[in-house]
Amino acid sequence: MKIPFNKPWFTGKEPHHMQMAAIFGQISGNGAYTKKCHEFFVDRFGFGKSLLTTSCSDALEMTALLAHIEPGDEVIMPSFTFVSTANAFVIRGAIIKFADTTPEYPNISAQQIAELITTKTKAIVVVHYAGAACDMNAINALAIKHNIIVIEDAAHALGAFYYGRPCGTLADMATFSFHETKNIICGEGGMLALNKKEYFNRAEILWEKGTNRAAFHRGEVNKYGWVDIGSSFLPSELISAFLFAQLEQFDVIQMERTRVKRDYLKHFDSLNRSGHLTIPKLPDGATENGNMFFAVCRTGEERNQLIKYLNHEGIHAVFHYLPLHNSPYFTPHHDGRQLPNTIRFSENIIRFPFYSGLETDDIEWIAKTTAKFFNR
Ligand SMILES: *Cc1c(COP(=O)(O)O)cnc(C)c1O
Repeated sequence: MKIPFNKPWFTGKEPHHMQMAAIFGQISGNGAYTKKCHEFFVDRFGFGKSLLTTSCSDALEMTALLAHIEPGDEVIMPSFTFVSTANAFVIRGAIIKFADTTPEYPNISAQQIAELITTKTKAIVVVHYAGAACDMNAINALAIKHNIIVIEDAAHALGAFYYGRPCGTLADMATFSFHETKNIICGEGGMLALNKKEYFNRAEILWEKGTNRAAFHRGEVNKYGWVDIGSSFLPSELISAFLFAQLEQFDVIQMERTRVKRDYLKHFDSLNRSGHLTIPKLPDGATENGNMFFAVCRTGEERNQLIKYLNHEGIHAVFHYLPLHNSPYFTPHHDGRQLPNTIRFSENIIRFPFYSGLETDDIEWIAKTTAKFFNR
């Protein structure tokens, strides 16, 4: 491929910080670099507490533990998401109630959530697709009314805002991903952000294998032991050091990625106007964080043909997500409701190459090649 779908971008300081971690002499988790990263996120975004994890999938598993999800509890979430959003709750025995997206944008519909709430509903998980915040005012109002926990799967949404407030501070807790396809990367990595004090202590215990080791290291208790369930959710210092190098360049990375997005919007404007493709408008209150560029084709068949054409021309465009409600694993568990917007977005969405350093000229060429497909 002339233009790959993703190209991880490095600041150049990653090896330096990893070497420093080795020189400090502690490379297991929760050391100096982990703390530096936690400080960055708390200072920058105002999370109540931040805990690095080995992935967003792991952070999601922690939210299910913190929410005390038990077999039979119902959890409402979009079907149009990555499998990890659902798996975290499925492995706790939850019954997943998949909600459709809004017709305009592939974010969960608040109206659908309202229809799915029962006395068994324990949590709502939202996904801010492509970094654009969900309708949190409506969703939080429902949650307060019915006493339900709200979790943001903010894997796409680092640096995005909702009516001026950072994504990740919009609900009880939130998860982020630093997988190499996201804005800020460390190979595989993630973060749990907590906004309610009642979760802080237990989260640290779950994170440290069910022990109160973190409190011990702060000198708050004189020995540590097994006090709750938990797992090894924390990354090594080598990973945190790598991540720290990226955080030092946070503004540079976000500026570059929003530049890529702006170039895409500019060069695809005529295809959007002519109706060959639809580029959904940001939902009310949401902002752009340079996470990805996607468009909605008129039909699934046309989308597949376009991907094939672009791939043949050396442009690695892709599709996603396959809906979870009718996946091989979940179909026998689904209650049979149709989710038409989810199906339409899944069949018609195309994602274009997106990474720091993707040149304006390349983006112009991608747009021209796409236009050529429609004018054949
Ligand atoms: C990438 C992603 C995840 C998983 O992140 P990992 O860090 O790879 O575990 C979860 N949810 C969404 C919406 C994602 O895009």
